Amino acid sequence: MLKINTPMSKLPGSYLFADIAKRVNEFSAKNPDKKLIRLGIGDVTQPLAPAVVNAMTKAVQEMGNKNTFHGYPPAFGYDFLINAIIANDYKSRGVDISPDEVFVSDGAKSDSGNIQELFSSEERIAVTDPVYPVYVDSNAMAGRAGVYSNGMWGQLCYLPVTAENDFVPELPDRHVDVIYLCYPNNPTGTTLTNDQLKPFVDYAIKHGSLIIYDAAYKAFINTPNVPRSIYEIEGAKSCAIECCSFSKTAGFTGVRCAYTIVPKEVFGVDDNIKKVSLRDLWARRQSTKFNGVSYIVQRGAEAVFSPDGKKQCQTTINYYMKNATLIREELKKAGYTVFGGVDAPYVWLKTPNNISGWDFFDLLLKKAQVVGTPGEGFGPSGAGYFRLTAFNTYEATQEALAKILAI
Ligand SMILES: *Cc1c(COP(=O)(O)O)cnc(C)c1O
Repeated sequence: MLKINTPMSKLPGSYLFADIAKRVNEFSAKNPDKKLIRLGIGDVTQPLAPAVVNAMTKAVQEMGNKNTFHGYPPAFGYDFLINAIIANDYKSRGVDISPDEVFVSDGAKSDSGNIQELFSSEERIAVTDPVYPVYVDSNAMAGRAGVYSNGMWGQLCYLPVTAENDFVPELPDRHVDVIYLCYPNNPTGTTLTNDQLKPFVDYAIKHGSLIIYDAAYKAFINTPNVPRSIYEIEGAKSCAIECCSFSKTAGFTGVRCAYTIVPKEVFGVDDNIKKVSLRDLWARRQSTKFNGVSYIVQRGAEAVFSPDGKKQCQTTINYYMKNATLIREELKKAGYTVFGGVDAPYVWLKTPNNISGWDFFDLLLKKAQVVGTPGEGFGPSGAGYFRLTAFNTYEATQEALAKILAI
C-alpha cells in the first residue's frame, strides 16, 4: 500500500477555529435572540478600490478580444507589475531590487509555506511564539519540526514574544538555519524598529542563516522608524527573503496576488558545500509547480500603485486603523493592558486576572457577545492573551467596545 508522508499525518488538527465555531454555535443555540459581533476575523471586509475594479474590468475586455488576449502569464509576473512593485515599494525607500528578484504569486501564504522546499530536511528552524501557523506547519509537514508534544515541536527553536520582553524576540540561543519573522506581526500587532530588527540581520550574516520576512501588513505602518521592508536594514539583501501581499494592503484576499523578493546575493550550499543561489532555486521551483497569476489580477494589482489606487487603498487602511485605535484606546480606558494596534490591524490584550485566553473568550461571548481569538491558538506563549481585529465595520467595532466596557 502507499506509504504516506508520516510527518504530515502527525500534524495536530487546526482546532482553533473549529473550537471557536463550536463555542459560538453552542452559545447561539441557547441565545437565539443575541446578536454576535465578530472581532476575530482575519479577513478584510471593505470592497476593492474603484481604480482596481476599473483596471480589472478593462483587462477582462482585453481578454475577450483576439488582438489583446493573453494566455499563460510569464511565470514570475508581468513586467508592468514587477516594475510598479520595484518603483513604489522599494526604490522609493532607497532599496535597490532588480526585476529578476521579484516573484509575483497567488499569495504570501503559499510563498511562505512553499519556501521551505528549498531547505534540506536537517535545517533548524526558529519561529516567534505566538506565530502565524503557516511557517510551523509547513516545516512540520516536511519533517523538519520533530515531535509534537505539550503544544510544542521538539526541533523548533521558539522565540517567545510577550509583555515581559516588550514583544521584541531574543536572538536564538543556539545556531539556527532559518528564522521566520512577520512584522507588523500577526497575531500581536506589534512591530520591530530598525534598531530592533538589525540584530537579526547581523545574526543571520554571522551564522550563515536565512531570514524569511513576512511583510504582509507593511501598508499599516505609521511609525517613522519602523521598516516596511527588511531590506531597509543594512546587509539584509544577503540573508533575507521577503514575502509581501496585496491581500491586506488592497483587499485582495479574494482576488489573490502577492510577491516574494529573493535577492541574487542570497545563497545556500549543497551536499558538496558548493554555493547555490536561492533565487535560481526558487525560480526553478516556481516554474515547475506554478503557472503564474492571471493577467486580469495583475492589472488590478498594478492599479494599486496608480495615484487614485494609492489614495483609495490608503482610505481603506485608515478606516481599519480608526477601528484599531478605537479598540486600543477604549480598552486602555477600561483598564486593560493592550499591545499593537498602532502599525497593524490587530490589538493583542492581556487577559484580566491572568485568566486563560479561552476563559476570556467565553467571558466576552457570554457577557458582551463579542467574538475574538484566544492567544493560545497561536502558540504556547500566546497563553493569557487575546486578539481583537480591526476588520469589522466602525459601527460594529463601536458597539462591541461599548459592550466590553460594560462587563
Ligand atoms: C493575511 C496574511 C498573509 C497574506 O496571505 P495571502 O495568501 O497573500 O492572502 C500573509 N502572512 C500573514 C501573517 C497574514 O496574516
